[in-house]
Amino acid sequence: HAKEQGRNTYRFYTPQMHATSMEQLTLSNDLRYALERGELHLCYQPQVSFETGGLIGVEALLRWIHPKLGMIPPDRFIPLAEDTGLIVPIGTWVLHEACRQAMMWVAQGLPSLRVAVNISAKQFRESDFSDTVKAVLQTTGLAPNLLELELTEGMLIENVTQTKLTLQSLKDMGVTLAIDDFGTGYSSLSYLKHFPLDRLKIDKSFVKEIAEKSGDAAAIVEAVVALGHSLKLTVIAEGVEQQDQVDFLHNRKCDELQGYFFSRPLTPQALEELLRKGVNGPEFCLYRYQ
Ligand code: C2E
Ligand code: MG
Ligand code: MG
Ligand code: MG
Repeated sequence: HAKEQGRNTYRFYTPQMHATSMEQLTLSNDLRYALERGELHLCYQPQVSFETGGLIGVEALLRWIHPKLGMIPPDRFIPLAEDTGLIVPIGTWVLHEACRQAMMWVAQGLPSLRVAVNISAKQFRESDFSDTVKAVLQTTGLAPNLLELELTEGMLIENVTQTKLTLQSLKDMGVTLAIDDFGTGYSSLSYLKHFPLDRLKIDKSFVKEIAEKSGDAAAIVEAVVALGHSLKLTVIAEGVEQQDQVDFLHNRKCDELQGYFFSRPLTPQALEELLRKGVNGPEFCLYRYQ
C-alpha cells in the first residue's frame, strides 16, 4: 500500500499512468453505450486459397469508432468488454451483423463467401451459446456452412466435456470451426484430435519470423501444416505480408492465406466492390501458382 511504502511511492503515479487508468475507465464506461449508439462496425479481411487461386472467405473484425477518440482497435477494448461482461451482447451483435452482411451478399448474387467470426471465451461458455448461433442463422437465413467460428486453444482446454458438447452441436448445425492464433496457447497438441474442428489458423507471429533464419518459426510452421493435415484439417496462415512468406507457405502445402499481402481488412462497401470484380482476379496474386 502507498502509505506503508512512504512518500516516495507517490512517484509511482506518473501522469502517464494516471492517463492510462483514466482512459481505461472512460473506455469501459463509453463501451456500455457503443452498441446502442451505433459506434461498432465490422470490417472484413479476405482469405485466399491456393487451390482455387482466389478469395474464398473473409474474417469479420470489430472496429469501434469512438466519437471523441476515433478508431479504437479491438486489442484495446475487447479485454475491457470481457471484464465487464459486455462481450456477450457485443459478441451476439457481431455474429448477427456478420451473418446478415454475408447473407446480403448472397442475396445480391455475389460469389458465396465463408464469413469467420471471432468468439471470446466468455461468450463461448454461455450456456445458450449454440442456441444463439442457431437463432442468428435462422433470422438471417445464412447457410450454416458459410459461417465459421474462430475459437482459441485456451477455450477448448477448459471444461472439456462441456466444450465437446457445444462444439458437436455447432457441427451438427453445419457451422465450421477454426482454431485461431494456433501455436500461441497450450503446447499439448494431442488435444486437437478430441474436438470436431475444420481449420487451424497459424498465428501471425510465426508467419512473421519465417524469413528469419535464426528462429524456429519456419520449422514450427512446417510442423503445424503437417499436424493439421494428418488430422484432416485445413491450414490457413494469418499475417501474410510478403511474397517470400507466400512462397514458403506454398512449398509447405499450407492451404489458405490471410494478410496485408492480399488485403487489409475492408469496409463492407470496399469488399463488395472486390466481389463485383470477381473472386479469382489477379489482385490476389495467387494465379501464378495454379
Ligand atoms: P485475430 O482474430 O487473430 O485477427 C487477426 C488480426 O491480425 C487482426 O487485427 C488483423 O487486422 C490483423 N492482421 C491481418 N493481416 C495482417 C498482416 O498481414 N500483418 C499484421 N501485422 N496484422 C495483420 P485486429 O483487427 O486489430 O484484431 C485483433 C484481435 O482482436 C483479433 O485477432 C481478435 O482476437 C480480436 N477481435 C477482433 N474482432 C473481434 C470480435 O468481433 N470478437 C472478438 N471476441 N474478438 C475480436
Ligand atoms: Mg481471428
Ligand atoms: Mg488470429
Ligand atoms: Mg491474434
